Amino acid sequence: MREHAVHGQPGWTTLGSLLAFGIAVSSGLLLVGLLMLPGAAPSRRGIFRYLLDAVVIAAALWFVGWVAVAEPTHALGDRTPFWCRPLLVPAGIAALALGVSVITALRAPRPRGPLVRVGAGVTLVAVAGMGLAGGVCQGMATLAGAGAVALPVALGIIAFAARETGQGAARRPSQRDQPGTDRSPAPSRSAGDAGFEVDDELSRRGSAYAFLPMAAMAASALYHLVRGGSFDVVGVLTGSLEGFALVGRQFLALRDVRAYAERLRDREAYFRELAHTDPLTGLANRRGLLSALENDRVAGAEAVLLALDLDGFKNVNDMRGHDVGDAVLVEVGQRLRMNLRPGDVAARLGGDEFAVLMWARPAEATRAAARLLGVLGGPYEQETGTVFLSVSIGLASCESVPDVTTLLRNADLALRWAKSHGKNRVELYDIAYDVKLRRRTELEHELRGAIDRDELHLQYQPVVVLPDVRPVGAEALLRWQHPRLGKVGPDEFIPLAEECGMISRLGAWVLHQACHQLSRWLAEGHDVWVSVNVSPRELHATGYVEQVKDALRAHRVPPQRLVLEVTEHAVSTDVEELIRRLSALRQTGVRIALDDFGAGYSSLGQLRRLPVDILKIDHSLVVKEMVRVVVELGHQFGLEVIAEGISEQRQMAMVVDAGCKLGQGYLSGWPVPAEHFEARLDSATSPARVVPVPEQKNDRDQNAGPTPRRAQNVRAVDSAREMRQA
Ligand code: C2E
Ligand code: MG
Ligand code: MG
Repeated sequence: MREHAVHGQPGWTTLGSLLAFGIAVSSGLLLVGLLMLPGAAPSRRGIFRYLLDAVVIAAALWFVGWVAVAEPTHALGDRTPFWCRPLLVPAGIAALALGVSVITALRAPRPRGPLVRVGAGVTLVAVAGMGLAGGVCQGMATLAGAGAVALPVALGIIAFAARETGQGAARRPSQRDQPGTDRSPAPSRSAGDAGFEVDDELSRRGSAYAFLPMAAMAASALYHLVRGGSFDVVGVLTGSLEGFALVGRQFLALRDVRAYAERLRDREAYFRELAHTDPLTGLANRRGLLSALENDRVAGAEAVLLALDLDGFKNVNDMRGHDVGDAVLVEVGQRLRMNLRPGDVAARLGGDEFAVLMWARPAEATRAAARLLGVLGGPYEQETGTVFLSVSIGLASCESVPDVTTLLRNADLALRWAKSHGKNRVELYDIAYDVKLRRRTELEHELRGAIDRDELHLQYQPVVVLPDVRPVGAEALLRWQHPRLGKVGPDEFIPLAEECGMISRLGAWVLHQACHQLSRWLAEGHDVWVSVNVSPRELHATGYVEQVKDALRAHRVPPQRLVLEVTEHAVSTDVEELIRRLSALRQTGVRIALDDFGAGYSSLGQLRRLPVDILKIDHSLVVKEMVRVVVELGHQFGLEVIAEGISEQRQMAMVVDAGCKLGQGYLSGWPVPAEHFEARLDSATSPARVVPVPEQKNDRDQNAGPTPRRAQNVRAVDSAREMRQA
């Protein structure tokens, strides 16, 4: 369309040039603004990448446009009516804006509609500006008018779409701020998430789109050549620009991929480290120790595995709180780390369990372990006060161990041994532990069914008046006769039952059996009492007092005929609680005996406070001449005193001389089945008869018993009175 002949008038051309310049600057700024919009480009460096991508498209467009207007194609006719040179720059920006819009449409994270609309708006601004400037330049009023109308419309589109973009950005997390998209992963975020985002961003950054502009460029160049055209400076520059943009883009992509691969490698190392590290102490964890054992263990290398367990750590957690517990664990880790030699690996296996892989011979490792015992046993200063701990250590040598599992097991076994033998000590694994452990496991298994299979029974050991040796009471002692394992002593199976939680069931069975037997003896007119051993665990079980009351009620036994023996070892635990429990038991009317006195840790002060009626002096004191002191002390406290374990005449004389009126031991009677004890009661209460005491040899040592002795020809006695007098 040819319009008014104003073309070429210098005034108009100058105005058109100014307009073209203004449009170029403002659409350029709008383009920068578009790239800065949230979500448009993933990062500042990403803007450059976006621009390069856009240049690939823009250069192709430009080239196609150039071919269309250049000789000999002349797609727009002999002369391009609106064209003037100042439009070169806004045309370039329009092409670039179109390129950015296309790239945004292809790559920007969803929702990308508003961004694409902003891009389209910027393109339209550039195109409308070109129309306006060209129209003015060439005196084409309609074109200038259309440009002038389209310009505010385009700006409106931008304003509206930009506001939408802002709202969308407020709803979604900022891409630009997210770590991992361009920089290394921030520790505050999960490295896995960041890796995923980088991956996502990289995958969105495909280069397939570049084929289209390249194809368009190649096709138009070919067409241009076929039509006999040639390439002037503009054509060559545009083609070169396209080439450099593509090369630059590939260079950046390659650099990003390399950086990404490095980040992945770092992240992998980080995760591997994390998977092998205990987060609390920073030591290796179980997996870390296993991999050290499997990877670092070279055939023939001298190595010892130390398994460590803090003694009584549960108390720290329970009494002082988990924060203090954690702080102590952290310090244990530090102390361990500071006392290792280079190459040794310290690990926390969980809870208060630690391990050290030490490259040393067993003797050397044992010395190091003894040192650790001191180091870890030192006080732990905490804000809330000092924590005292000890540690038990089990050692196992890697030598002649087939695999890591066995090594761990051996160290653990040695640790258990150290624990069960007093704690705060070092034990080196011994093959004998295996034998004992197997026996223990078998006993534990068999004990579970012992009551149902009727393998348990009680024996009664007489408690006699001294020096007459007349039975006034009996201690019920549990026996286990297993068809295959033979006789198993209570010293072996009672602690086992305590550990595996079976003691309450055994204790209940013993209590009922003993009460049943006692009620029969009482019914037959015997003046006797029976004592039953109570383990500390039973004592502390809820409902034990009720259980005792039930047993007494069920068998119609007067409570004062039943004595409950509490071992002195129970005193070493919570004394206040023990006092409460014993008082409650005593209120039922039963009497309480403190068993094995002198073998444990209870102090005389505690003895005064304990609500007990009878003191049973441990045989270890009977052997020594301590017996007199204890007897006097017991009497001073108003207690009845029984000397246990009298197995020789000399001891008997010593006990009698000390003023002790009651005794128990092999000399005065072995533990025997109920009927034998009954026969002895019978003989003791028959004044006319002098019968041999039906002594049974102890089932543990058939040859060690004393020669059978004659029962004393005495009158029936009130045993309770007897004891009171004693
Ligand atoms: P204890 O209560 O101190 O029982 C006395 C132990 O000393 C018995 O061993 C008895 O056979 C043994 N003995 C008796 N006279 C002599 C002697 O003259 N010299 C020596 N050296 N020992 C003598 P036993 O029957 O092997 O019982 C061992 C421990 O097992 C008992 O010590 C008691 O603590 C525990 N026990 C036995 N039966 C039960 C039970 O039914 N329940 C509980 N919780 N523990 C029981
Ligand atoms: Mg006892
Ligand atoms: Mg005892």
